[in-house]
Parts: sequence; structure tokens; C-alpha cells
Amino acid sequence: MAAESGRRVGVIGAGIVGLCAALWLQRDGHRVFLVEPGTPGEGASFGNAGCFNGSSVTPAGMPGVVKQVPRWLMDPLGPLALRWSYLPQILPYLVRFVRSATPEKVRAQARAMRPLVGPTVPLVRELAKMAGADTLVHQRGHLYVYRSAEALAKDGFAWALRRDNGVEVDEFDADELRQLEPSLSREYVRGLLVRENGHTSNPFGLVSAFVELFLRQGGEIVPARAFGFRLDGQRLTAIATDRGDQPADRAVICAGAYSKPLAASLGDRVPLETERGYHLMIRDPEIMPRIPTADADGKFVATPMDTGLRFAGTVELAGLDAPPNWRRSQILLAQGRRMLPGLAKEHAEERISMWMGHRPATPDSLPVIGPSRASPDVLYAFGHGHVGMTAAPMTGKIVADLVGGRAASIDIAPFAASRFG
Ligand SMILES: Cc1cc2nc3c(=O)[nH]c(=O)nc-3n(C[C@H](O)[C@H](O)[C@H](O)COP(=O)(O)OP(=O)(O)OC[C@H]3O[C@@H](n4cnc5c(N)ncnc54)[C@H](O)[C@@H]3O)c2cc1C
Repeated sequence: MAAESGRRVGVIGAGIVGLCAALWLQRDGHRVFLVEPGTPGEGASFGNAGCFNGSSVTPAGMPGVVKQVPRWLMDPLGPLALRWSYLPQILPYLVRFVRSATPEKVRAQARAMRPLVGPTVPLVRELAKMAGADTLVHQRGHLYVYRSAEALAKDGFAWALRRDNGVEVDEFDADELRQLEPSLSREYVRGLLVRENGHTSNPFGLVSAFVELFLRQGGEIVPARAFGFRLDGQRLTAIATDRGDQPADRAVICAGAYSKPLAASLGDRVPLETERGYHLMIRDPEIMPRIPTADADGKFVATPMDTGLRFAGTVELAGLDAPPNWRRSQILLAQGRRMLPGLAKEHAEERISMWMGHRPATPDSLPVIGPSRASPDVLYAFGHGHVGMTAAPMTGKIVADLVGGRAASIDIAPFAASRFG
């Protein structure tokens, strides 16, 4: 057992997933170092909507999604944008995405996701408590709002999937919705509240608190970029970085949207893409919803944060290197003002901030978790797409189980890299 707990483990990438893995590994008595070329927590984990939604079992590719794409692409305020020059590169991914969107496959995806995301609030609370950051985690539920009963009916399959997987939902009509969240526009006539869901009022603050705990517990941060692995047969000896080899008994790849070449170096061709997302924040907003609220049609979320009101969402397909298109953020402001009419029509520039980040996305919306093809000593924990905050606490636990030689506490077969052939 001593050998199982005293390993030197290198975690590549200091986002929410890497930090959760690192903390659970430390709890098992391993000597852990993080390999991170930037500031920990400044990747996708920085600017997201902050939701820890155990109900997030539905994939991005739902049945019928293809039919909606032309409407979304034509609408300048729509939730999806594609840089046409990127189409040839992303086409094989889109083909897989569409093939994954059958009702049968989507049911299986939801079944696989529920045990990964369901325990998110108690698990993140446990970590936040250890880090002295429990005031950053809240459980007020998550509200999904609709402008018509027809729009809600169109989402019927998604709600059935959630309910089939044990998610409890309370439904509100227009009057009840107004009492629940008075800041919302009267355009909304239906609201669905999932009480089990939670959120953080400061995603970067939460990751930073995890970093501080990690360092207090003897963890080390190597400021370097990993590019490969030194193997002796199947046994890992070191992580290769631009600052030299870092000796390690085990390695975990948590590099988010940048994980693809690292997996390829181990013989796994994972069709990982970036679904670029944006946020726009208003400091000292005139009005703030109490509960994180998703506009189901616009596909964006308004989250009350310690630093202001954050509108986050939209998907842009344009790869890792294209510069941000800040118009995507500004669209969120227009939509947000429509959602919350109490907001001013104009805001001084210094009260507004914008951000773009890379969701690490797979065509079937399932993450990649488990051992690599080349070595059981190198594990994958990336590709969490739209739900990386939510899925990180359980993913980290699974990593600790695998490094400790234990079976994972949930079925991780659906997350194997080998599913992509
Ligand atoms: C607009 C938007 C809203 C979102 N809202 C939510 C939400 O409400 N709830 C939710 O659950 N999820 C949400 N997400 C998704 C979530 O933010 C991501 O899934 C999650 O942050 C991914 O975490 P990560 O640790 O895998 O990646 P990241 O946070 O991106 O971290 C990866 C780290 O790896 C480092 N790295 C990269 N390459 C290397 C290398 N070669 N060597 C070493 N280090 C490397 C990077 O510098 C980075 O720090 C949202 C995303 C967006 C864009």
C-alpha cells in the first residue's frame, strides 16, 4: 500500500481539472507537481459561467441539432458562429458530432455523464472547505427560462433525459417566475428550476484558492510546457517539457483544449476541438439575478459573481489560434439587457470587461478519462467541453483512484480514448 500512495505524480495543466486531480492525489499521500506554462486558472477555467450543474447530462449534439444550425448561423445574435476559413479543418469533427446526435447515443451519453456530474456540489464543497474558500460556492439552483410554451416543448427531449437520470425539476409559470426572480423580463413565461445545482461566484478565485492549498500541502508548480513523455517500455520515467525532463512515476494530462498533441504522442488520436466561448461582465450592475439563469433559446447564462454580473455562452468554431471576435461578447450584452430590463441601456466602458476561452470539446460531449494507449502510467483527464467546472471534482477523484491502483468509483468505460478508434 505504501508504494500505492507515495508516487511522484506530474499533473499537466493547472485549470480546474488539473487542480481537482492534484488535490485528491495529495490526499492519497502522493508527491504531486503541476506543469503549467501560464498563470494557473487562466485557461477556460477563468471566465466560464461558474455553474456546478449536476443536471448537465445532455450533450451539445442533441437530435435535430443539424436542422437548427442554419438558423443559428444566419442570426447575428445567434448562439453559434463559424469562421468559414476553418470549415475544412473542422469538417471531420462535425461529421462525428452529427453521427453522435442520435436519440439512442444521446441517451447513453446522458447515462454516462450523470455519475460524473451528479455529485459535483458536495464534492466541490469538500475541496473548497479544505481550501478555506467555501464562501465562493453557493447552492441556489439553476433556472432555465423560456419565452413560450412552444420553446419549452421543443426542449422536451432534453428535460426527459434529465428526469430519466434522476434530476428533479420544478416548473414555474409566468407569475411564479416573477416572484422567484423579479429581475427577469416579462417576456419569459416558463421557468424550470433545478435545485440541486450550484455555482461559484468567482471561478478564478476558486481555482486560485485550490492552488494555494496545493502549495501549502507541499505541491510544486513547474513553470513549463509539456510536449511529450519518456517511456522505458510501457513504464513512464519523465514528462518532457521545454524546461527539461521532469522525473515522474505517473502523469495526468489535464491540458484542456491543448491536450490533443500530448495524447497523439502516446498513440491516441482524439478528435479534440475548441468550442470557443465568450463572456461579458458588468461591474456594479443596476440589477443582478439571485439564481444563475440560462436563456434557453439564446443559450447563454447570467451568473451573479462577486466581481459583477457575468453573461457567458455562445459557441464559435474557429480553432485555437484565431484572434477573438469581440462582437460575440457584445452580442451577450444586447441579449443580457433584454433578459434583465432593469439594466441600463448604456454602460461606461470601464465597467465592462470581455473574455474569450477554449472549451475542450469532443464530438460526443464525453470527456476523455483513463489510461493512454502507450502507457498505463499516463492518464487522460481532459475534453470536458461545456461542463468542465461541474465534472472536475469527480474527474479528479477518478484520477486519484486510478493512480492509487483502485477501480474508479463510477463506470469510466464510456470515457476511454479508444472509443475514437
Ligand atoms: C463561456 C464559457 C462558459 C462556461 N460555463 C461553464 C459552466 O457554467 N459550468 C461548467 O461546468 N463548465 C463551463 N464551461 C466549461 C469549462 O470552463 C471548461 O470545461 C473547463 O474550464 C476546462 O477546464 P480544464 O482544466 O480542462 O482546462 P483549462 O482551464 O483550459 O486549463 C488547462 C490548462 O492547461 C495548460 N496547458 C495547456 N497546454 C499545456 C502544456 N502543453 N503543458 C502544460 N500545461 C498546458 C493551460 O495553460 C491551462 O492553464 C464554460 C466554458 C466557456 C468557454
